[in-house]
Amino acid sequence: MDTTITNLATAIKAAHKIVFLTGAGVSTHSGIPDYRSKTGLYAASAAPEYLLSHDNLQDHPADFYEFVTQRMYYPDAQPNLIHQEIAALCNDKGELITQNVDGLDKKAGNQHVIEFHGNLYDLYCQTCAKRVTYAEYARDFHHAKDGGIIRPRIVLYGEAIDSSKSDRSVAAIAAADLIMIVGTSFRVYPFAQLLQYRSAAAQIFAINNEPIAAPEIHMIQMDALAAFTKLKEVLNEC
Ligand SMILES: [Zn+2]
Repeated sequence: MDTTITNLATAIKAAHKIVFLTGAGVSTHSGIPDYRSKTGLYAASAAPEYLLSHDNLQDHPADFYEFVTQRMYYPDAQPNLIHQEIAALCNDKGELITQNVDGLDKKAGNQHVIEFHGNLYDLYCQTCAKRVTYAEYARDFHHAKDGGIIRPRIVLYGEAIDSSKSDRSVAAIAAADLIMIVGTSFRVYPFAQLLQYRSAAAQIFAINNEPIAAPEIHMIQMDALAAFTKLKEVLNEC
């Protein structure tokens, strides 16, 4: 059912524990395009699901490196109003579970973030397991010390979610009385399955350009930045 920003603001004020579930639509406003979008350099190339897979990293590490460095790393990107508002609410009474791997929620000061799919800037060498800086990775995907292949600690297609992260996410969802889905069409599994662990009393609101197919959702079908700009005004008034 459709609802309004005013209804959402009322629910936020009343909530004891809010959980946010976010996706690419939050970070596009920081200049980070959704790598799944069919525009750009790779429109006619292999599917992103293959380029960003465990198999591609192992079999064609140069292709993997080219894809992630050209399509996913935006080291100068800054958090936008959505990241900031979510951080303020999380630091007050909430938790964020994000599919985004760009690290912008932590950059925004959010102290309650579960990076469900990892973080692009958390890099290590597959041979010696040592941490590597982004500056080193930007120069070469081979570790200077031993020639090992460097990779980001993100969940690739064909890899499992870190079980401690899924456990923490399930616990957060179960404890929430308000769940807000923002900037994601909510089609990536197992992320989208998290909703099944919600408490019966939890209300679910979603802010997204496209409608989301999930039961009992209060839908605000609009751009996330426009919605949060309005939400900030309404929250400040009441
Ligand atoms: Zn190494």
